[in-house]
Amino acid sequence: MGMRFADATDQAIGVEKGTVPWHHAAMTQPPLLLIPGPVQTDPRVKAAMAQDIAPWDNETRPRYASLRERVRVIAGGVEGEHVCLPLQGCGHFILEAALRTFVPPGQKVLIPNNGNYGVRMIRLAAEAGRVPVAIDIPEGEVATGAMIARALAEDPAIGTVSVVHSETATALVNPMEEIAASVKAAGRRLIVDAVSGFGAIPFDMGAHPEADAVVFSSNKCMEAMPGIGFAIARVDRLEACRGNAGSWSFDLADLLHHARTFGWGSIRFTPAIQSLAAFEVALDIFEAEGGQQARLARYTENARILYDGMVDLGLTPWLPKDRQGPIIVNMHQPPDPAFALQPFVDALKRRGFLISNFSTTTAPTFRIGAIGRLFPDDMRRAVTAVAETLDELGVRRLSRTDIAA
Ligand SMILES: *Cc1c(COP(=O)(O)O)cnc(C)c1O
Repeated sequence: MGMRFADATDQAIGVEKGTVPWHHAAMTQPPLLLIPGPVQTDPRVKAAMAQDIAPWDNETRPRYASLRERVRVIAGGVEGEHVCLPLQGCGHFILEAALRTFVPPGQKVLIPNNGNYGVRMIRLAAEAGRVPVAIDIPEGEVATGAMIARALAEDPAIGTVSVVHSETATALVNPMEEIAASVKAAGRRLIVDAVSGFGAIPFDMGAHPEADAVVFSSNKCMEAMPGIGFAIARVDRLEACRGNAGSWSFDLADLLHHARTFGWGSIRFTPAIQSLAAFEVALDIFEAEGGQQARLARYTENARILYDGMVDLGLTPWLPKDRQGPIIVNMHQPPDPAFALQPFVDALKRRGFLISNFSTTTAPTFRIGAIGRLFPDDMRRAVTAVAETLDELGVRRLSRTDIAA
């Protein structure tokens, strides 16, 4: 009565399962992701995931090795001086790996803190047995070179400064050039958390010998799938820092050792290989678009349209315009009792745009992402959808000042 084994399995799990999308089961068109990662991706990036791949295959290896070189170049890394070290996992994982590798156990690391990702970095360092020394900066204010210089002068035991470049919680971009200059002048080392900006907001490793590493993840401005963290790191420092990590999994020095032993096409442990395949396509798209400058220009325009558009609606921006970065836009939640975040998010999603359903600032805000495979027209439609959604919810009072007006 031959029912094929495969058919039995299909019935057991329901073959339709894999074809029902996760967050738009009831919608014919998937919503666009307007969030700061994982971001909206190009269909070709998604399609690259649909294959089974052996990571150690002789056709896979050269492609992996070449992908590393292309990423090193984007970071301004110099051949022989810098290497690209991909690591399985998310942004926190690669950041922890950099902290463990370049900050010896028990040593102090200076961390300017002006938002949620600063807080997270402090926790990562502390739980890894390093000693975070925080500079507490009011949320929404930038870290300055002068602050760093002062803190380093006061405490000679601080060996490393670790900085969030683009603070994704607030949309503020810390001025890395002046911060790096202070680190260099004080003869200390620098780690850059470029997770939310890499590929759009530049940081040139070749111009910054004081930088041990810049780290990022696959699923933000590079517009690829989640699953891989990348460090672009100095070879001399990796060599000097062997034995620091106290973790095999999170040891960047061991990744260098692995590459030297088994080749630059070899991947230590099982990788998110489909995500790497998707990343290769995302790199092609990145280069075809015109690289970092083109991407920054597109995101800057996206963020401007969101910012100006929502100000025109009467909403109050969380940051003044001159501090508004290109990654996300935060708006104060309207002080009208008719507004609640989750119903707002749900109604916006029905109009085709999915935004975060949580606030990442101390004051209640909502945030709309400007990054990913999104274009100015998408942003204009998003602003219109925000206006319609506020109408639908019956939100009349949009800002704290409009009552007086
Ligand atoms: C997204 C992000 C991270 C890492 O987030 P994961 O969820 O671990 O990928 C770290 N730092 C910044 C600034 C980020 O935006």
